[in-house]
Amino acid sequence: MNNSLKEEFELAMEDYVIPASKVAHVFEDNSLEHALLVLTNTGYTLIPVLDYDNKYIGMINNAGIMNDIMGVESILFENLPEVKVSNVVIRDYPVLRVGFSFEILLKHLIDHSFLCVVDDDNEFVGIVTRRVALKRLAKAIHQPVDQ
Ligand code: AMP
Repeated sequence: MNNSLKEEFELAMEDYVIPASKVAHVFEDNSLEHALLVLTNTGYTLIPVLDYDNKYIGMINNAGIMNDIMGVESILFENLPEVKVSNVVIRDYPVLRVGFSFEILLKHLIDHSFLCVVDDDNEFVGIVTRRVALKRLAKAIHQPVDQ
């Protein structure tokens, strides 16, 4: 990548982050019923999981919830209020640390539609979506910074 383009991206990196206050999330102690309601109401299939100190724990998705309540011959919807989000949280999802480079962002956005950003204390800062990053990249390509 052209160096000045990369520098421009890294300087403006904060503009990419959708702040925590605007991100739909659940807490690890919430029930799967609550998580399913949040996912359904927002229309997202994957959202972050936090603890009550706003530290990042992982992600939860619809598939993980449905898998957990799958019985041999039926779906056990009655289990939804009993089981906690911590039972199905995905813990090995990549995260971005504040100060992340544009290369790291691009590398992870190939496989993931969005990534969580955390600070040095693992506190949840927000998310970066593939859509926002691609929009900025397209803009930069059409208006090169060094011309
Ligand atoms: P988008 O590119 O805007 O469609 O977002 C890609 C994915 O990022 C969505 O499918 C969600 O999983 C996640 N996402 C985007 N915005 C939010 C938000 N405000 N709260 C929670 N998750 C979000």
